[in-house]
Amino acid sequence: MNFETDALNEILKKRIEEFTPNGTVYTCGTVTKVSDGVARVENLPGRCYGELLDFGNGIWGIALDLEENGVGAVILNSGASVSIGDVVTGTGHPVDTPVSYSVIGRVLNPIGAPLDGEPFKAKKYAPMEKNAPGIIARKPVCEPLDTGILPIDSMIPIGKGQRELIIGDRQTGKTTIAIDTILNQKNKNVICIYCAIGQKASTIAQVIMTLRKADAMKYTAVVAATAADSPAMQYLAPYAACSMAESFMRDGRDVLVVYDDLSKHAVAYRTMSLLLHRPPGREAYPGDVFYLHSRLLERSACLADSEGGGTMTALPIIETTGGNISAYIPTNVISITDGQIYLESELFHSGIRPAINTGLSVSRVGRAAQYKAMRKVSGLLRIELAQYKEMAVFARFGSDLDPATKATLQRGEKLTAIFNQEKNKPYSLSQETILLLGFRCGAFDSVESKNMKKMIPAFLRYFEKNCGDLLYRIESTHDCDEQTEELLKGHFGRWAELAESE
Ligand code: ATP
Ligand code: MG
Repeated sequence: MNFETDALNEILKKRIEEFTPNGTVYTCGTVTKVSDGVARVENLPGRCYGELLDFGNGIWGIALDLEENGVGAVILNSGASVSIGDVVTGTGHPVDTPVSYSVIGRVLNPIGAPLDGEPFKAKKYAPMEKNAPGIIARKPVCEPLDTGILPIDSMIPIGKGQRELIIGDRQTGKTTIAIDTILNQKNKNVICIYCAIGQKASTIAQVIMTLRKADAMKYTAVVAATAADSPAMQYLAPYAACSMAESFMRDGRDVLVVYDDLSKHAVAYRTMSLLLHRPPGREAYPGDVFYLHSRLLERSACLADSEGGGTMTALPIIETTGGNISAYIPTNVISITDGQIYLESELFHSGIRPAINTGLSVSRVGRAAQYKAMRKVSGLLRIELAQYKEMAVFARFGSDLDPATKATLQRGEKLTAIFNQEKNKPYSLSQETILLLGFRCGAFDSVESKNMKKMIPAFLRYFEKNCGDLLYRIESTHDCDEQTEELLKGHFGRWAELAESE
């Protein structure tokens, strides 16, 4: 008897040891509560934070609250009909996004579904959330990223790997600055990703049309979660865009990502958090709203050569209300980024476009990366502009101005006119250099301030026609050496004579 039991035990033990499971183990739970886009799933052992959950019928969710006997989940599909008692299956892995080069030229939603009407399949997927590169993996920002927008390239330069915030009230030209920067990356070997968060579908369509018209979709991917998408989808959008950019950066490429805009992202996260009954803090945002943006923006980097030397430049956008940059989200993002471009409605409506307030805008790391040519011609612009603004305020009161003040005012007016730039018309480095050098050398002295708008295109045309070789030299060396400068100065004199005679 005993012998028999022992033998049976032996056999069983052996069988158990040899057993290899050949199926997949699923963890299931049931929905016990559903409210606006949020569900509680009981008896589902939460395995990881951010796990993708299958609600069946093509409905997906993410586990955001892991509790003892269930999870709190947000539903990705907007308007999805989830009912109590529905079975939910855990996938065991966090939510993924496509990261292969096939995303370029496409318009996708954060989880990789095409929004441009053509089928899409990626070769490679990666998790949306990843740790930012560490300290050793990085090197200081050392190369400029041209925006093609003169006041930015000269006074608030952006370097590759930098995070520069674009902040301003609604309708002040924030998106235009970001799009112009993307347009300016044509033939510059930079991959661009435009991430639209919580915007109207019509606005996104317009942006895509602008990109298509300028042939910029060849090197650009668009990740979009519109205002009609669920808050969870809007919450994921910037992380998806960041993961795509990160994979290209790890491949040694230069990438530019635009997050348009992070205020709406914070609002979507607040919606989710309040529905999940997390305690509200200042302005009803949850306690971790700083971490929400810091972990996203920290992933932008200028990688060391040992890591492939790729870079990810981020242009987050924040919308303020009533010009209040000291509200909760704006101050958070200002403190995370390496500088900000501050746009003002007052300037915008007075005709100064781009409406950049140069006094409140800074770039904390970009100066080190500026091109030599630009550094030479942009030295004292900020001070000159500040002096002009101060004097302009006083000059309103009296008409009796001494000649020195008048001269400063006139120079200031001309500089402001040079800084005015039409949208979707970025300047090349050589154009920017000759405009500022010309201004410094007095090429515009004979032009009246009110005629400046008309004369600038004429000035650029003259130099393109007559000094192609000099412009080429500036473009190819990124420098304006003494010899080039001397030759240009001769042309400035000639152009000034021509302008005067007109
Ligand atoms: P929103 O708050 O709605 O997102 P925004 O701040 O992103 O707005 P834009 O959409 O970029 O602003 O621009 C607002 C309007 O101003 C647009 O109609 C755009 O064409 C115009 N605009 C922006 N920049 C310029 C410019 N440099 N020259 C002429 N028009 C401009
Ligand atoms: Mg916008």
